[in-house]
Amino acid sequence: ELNKIMRKKLVIGNWKMNLDKLECMTLVNEVIEPNLSDDVKVVLAPPFVYLDLVASICLDKENFDVAAQNCSCNDNGAFTGEVSAQMIESLNAKYIILGHSERRQNFNESEKILNLKIVQALKYNTNIVFCCGEDITHRDSGKHFDIIEEQISSTVFKLELKDFKNIIIAYEPIWAIGTGKTATADQAQEMHHFIRSLIEKKYNNHISSIVPILYGGSCKPINSKELFAKPDIDGGLIGGASLNAKDFLSIVKSF
Ligand code: PEP
Repeated sequence: ELNKIMRKKLVIGNWKMNLDKLECMTLVNEVIEPNLSDDVKVVLAPPFVYLDLVASICLDKENFDVAAQNCSCNDNGAFTGEVSAQMIESLNAKYIILGHSERRQNFNESEKILNLKIVQALKYNTNIVFCCGEDITHRDSGKHFDIIEEQISSTVFKLELKDFKNIIIAYEPIWAIGTGKTATADQAQEMHHFIRSLIEKKYNNHISSIVPILYGGSCKPINSKELFAKPDIDGGLIGGASLNAKDFLSIVKSF
């Protein structure tokens, strides 16, 4: 419990590929609230085209920051259609989501690609929200712990301790993303505790006690309180519910 007090509480809204510009402005204005408690950080992850706009609005708001949903695996140059980590950083976006299951599945992001993206994000000093998660066959066959260990060992665990300080882990069981099936608070806690123990084994107790581990997968106002109350759950990565200001704020306030 003492450790939990030391960690940042984070709620990240992943808007995915939704909203036109007017809808985006409306949502930002509804979500930005002046009286959130100091220890909660809210991070909005709009599509790239709105990142500058949303970042400018968040700039002077204590509790609010922005994240990119992805970055290029290359540095700047002849890569038509790509967005570099340097561009993201130059907008004052301090976070980049990497390894989301939708990118792994639909855009064939391999661990090799992810490792290149991690290098880019760190080069420009952004924080990485690194997503991991098992699918339903892995869960049903009891292989979920092995899969998560594999996903983390082959990527962020290649980093030195000084770089691992920029990592936030998001545990997102694929069977819970956008499906309405949430992991139970106990299932999530069990996995978060496992991930934290892996970090302790790989690095040390200090780093494992400060790295935020977020839960993602159909997190909603009806289940966020119970999830966030668990000792190793430091907040959430929210998809669907982040598009509704009332639901999103209710999640933000459920610590
Ligand atoms: C996500 O895509 O990161 C996510 C958690 O989505 P949802 O909340 O819609 O399940």
